Amino acid sequence: MDCIFCKIIEGLIPSEKIYEDDLCVAFYDIEPQTRVHALIVPREHIPSAAAITEHHAALLGHIWTVIPKLAEQLGVAEGFRVVTNSGADAGQTVAHLHFHLQSPK
Ligand code: 5GP
Ligand code: ZN
Repeated sequence: MDCIFCKIIEGLIPSEKIYEDDLCVAFYDIEPQTRVHALIVPREHIPSAAAITEHHAALLGHIWTVIPKLAEQLGVAEGFRVVTNSGADAGQTVAHLHFHLQSPK
């Protein structure tokens, strides 16, 4: 599959990985918009938030337990933003579900 994030997950494209487990991977955004800017992606290729179903409930719950640990690890636990853009109209440029974890500035 021609997906940048699947290739990053598989190690076929290099990235600065921060965290990984059986279900998800986190790495630094190549073009950080804020001082701290990481991306958290499920290993499963889900095209966007619009494609999330009940089938993904445990996976998404798990990702939301990883997010505060990552925020702590990256030193932004006291203030951070989590964003997912769904669809080109909303600015999604990579069609593999991902959560931006960003410091406030
Ligand atoms: P979107 O615009 O889809 O919400 O977010 C995609 C993000 O992926 C962008 O912030 C962009 O900088 C980042 N990105 C795109 N290609 C790569 C890449 O090859 N490596 C990394 N680490 N980030 C990427
Ligand atoms: Zn993918």
